[in-house]
Amino acid sequence: MTLTARSLRSAAHHLVRAQHRLHSTTNTTAKTLTIPDLSRFDKMPSKEIKATDFPLLQTCLTDNKEWAEKVHVDDPDFFRRSAKGQSPFLLWIGCADSRVPESVVLGRKPGEIFVHRNIANQFHHNDDSANAVLTYAVKHLGVQHVAVVGHTACGGCLAAHESPKPDPTNTESTALSRFLAPLIELRHSLAEDASIDELIVANVRKTVKTVCESEIIQENWKNAQKTGKQPVYVHGWLKDLSTGLIKDLECSEGPDY
Ligand SMILES: [Zn+2]
Repeated sequence: MTLTARSLRSAAHHLVRAQHRLHSTTNTTAKTLTIPDLSRFDKMPSKEIKATDFPLLQTCLTDNKEWAEKVHVDDPDFFRRSAKGQSPFLLWIGCADSRVPESVVLGRKPGEIFVHRNIANQFHHNDDSANAVLTYAVKHLGVQHVAVVGHTACGGCLAAHESPKPDPTNTESTALSRFLAPLIELRHSLAEDASIDELIVANVRKTVKTVCESEIIQENWKNAQKTGKQPVYVHGWLKDLSTGLIKDLECSEGPDY
């Protein structure tokens, strides 16, 4: 094993240990965790900018306080339990679009849904961020389900729908164009007259398939077969922005045994 691989393994190990340590600390002391003393950090940046000088952000912070007070009134033990740890039942792989906030649209509380969101709810095998989230969710948090969630009027899909085939000789690219490239390829694998909605559905179905092919899901399914434990199931959903409703796209996957 190389030093780099060992370091990475060690970092992952520490992440899991830290979560357990947080559990045990809060279990025994049940104290409120406090934000560290900011005077112990270098001033950054040097300019005198305060988030609270911006009215919209100040309103957000005021609303946050009101929300926390309301949650506390409704369930005085909620934040103490929440500080002890999380046990989400669902990993939501969704679009970064601001109109699809997972906990709000599913009516769930903090702690119930683990989340990965990006442009057009994609999952690429070489995307470390997405793979790290899937690994942590499945191996360490023990989520029971993964939901890939697309939505109508998706800007990423719209951009891909209108894009010509990528020119391999074009060396100028941006993070956004590189991230959209597989979606543009998917668009050109569909019929020329495929609608934007057909591309949105095809993208969800493809992401379900890619998640299922990942090492972490394949390993989970093998272990579940050996041990008799419940495997993780992967589902495809579509949110209709015009009604707020989520439709099951009937492409759920699980192990074959
Ligand atoms: Zn979108």
